[in-house]
Amino acid sequence: MSVSIPFNKPFLTGKETEYIEKAVRTGKISGNGYFTQECQKWFCDRYGFLKTLLATSCTDALEMCAILSEVKPGDEVIVPSYTFVSTALAFVREGADIVFADSYPDNPNIDADAVEGLITERTKAIVPVHYAGVSCDMDKLRSLADKYSLLLIEDAAQGIDSHYTSPLTGKRSPLGSIGDLAAFSFHETKNIISGEGGMLAINNDRFIRRSEIIWEKGTNRAEFFRGEVNKYGWVDTGSSFLPSEVIAAFLMAQCESVDNIQSRRKAIWERYYQRLAPVSAKGCFNMPVIPDYAENNAHMFYIVCNGLEERSALMRHLKEYGILAVSHYLSLHKSEYYKDKYKGGELPNCDRFADSLLRLPLFYELTDEQVDYICDTVEEYFG
Ligand SMILES: *Cc1c(COP(=O)(O)O)cnc(C)c1O
Repeated sequence: MSVSIPFNKPFLTGKETEYIEKAVRTGKISGNGYFTQECQKWFCDRYGFLKTLLATSCTDALEMCAILSEVKPGDEVIVPSYTFVSTALAFVREGADIVFADSYPDNPNIDADAVEGLITERTKAIVPVHYAGVSCDMDKLRSLADKYSLLLIEDAAQGIDSHYTSPLTGKRSPLGSIGDLAAFSFHETKNIISGEGGMLAINNDRFIRRSEIIWEKGTNRAEFFRGEVNKYGWVDTGSSFLPSEVIAAFLMAQCESVDNIQSRRKAIWERYYQRLAPVSAKGCFNMPVIPDYAENNAHMFYIVCNGLEERSALMRHLKEYGILAVSHYLSLHKSEYYKDKYKGGELPNCDRFADSLLRLPLFYELTDEQVDYICDTVEEYFG
């Protein structure tokens, strides 16, 4: 079989090199220049964040969240086990103990009803992950955070341009705007990209000043450049979290095309859903579930197979037909790095997604014919 459909292919809008050239020609290619500030403003204007800071990755944005949250050894942070390493690692680096939470039975997101039982006197923060860009139950998590005076930090790595609608108030909020802090990723596998890249969004004004200092190696350099202080120096902890203008220029081109990117991704997602729902109805696998309060930003199309063996066999079948479908996270509480430190109980839903979730190719240039071919191949496998 000569067909070859990759799992992902980074999409270029065509403006990236023009903007990079502009950044290079201005002679200012380190961080926090024109394109960085334009991007940061664009995100605040479009999504209503109080402040944003571009970062070199979502992992770095999460590390800034961990520093800002002032977690210390002995403090606890509640994180889903079904997530990428960085969600937990950022807090582990500050010395926190991770309390892993399970997923819902029908949805990989953190089971908000199970979170209250995990809160102790040492808990400092809850870090929900909007898996596949589908919102967690933010009303429940926000009210738990308020009730116990915890920080709510959104890992919105996959959540750009997606929303949560409160069943209580009807208010529709962009993901990343509900937590005190939020982290986004622009890694080449995400919806809008800059190769490697990320962003910290700040929605609680008490973090505004300190976030900028942490971002600039623990100095008040950003204030100095705005003329707010007449010299700058070392005032706090921090690191070099800011990306160069070359990266920000690339990202600006992507931002300007977000509506175009999103509409194509959503069309692909819908086509998968329409084609595969009847196969799923025969009991072959489960379809993704999007709760009423959540929206779909078409970050990912996945199916949930009936177990590890079936998933492996289906993956092999697809590969024989030139289609690269891939599994996703292994449970973090069972990881080599954390399993001996983990003190909690079994997390069966998380383990089930680790064994049985299968992601199908989804990228801008995937054609309708290719989606149909992939669906036909899945259907053929189930006979
Ligand atoms: C991609 C991803 C990250 C890491 O993003 P980077 O920009 O690669 O650091 C973190 N959390 C989740 C849920 C992700 O999907």
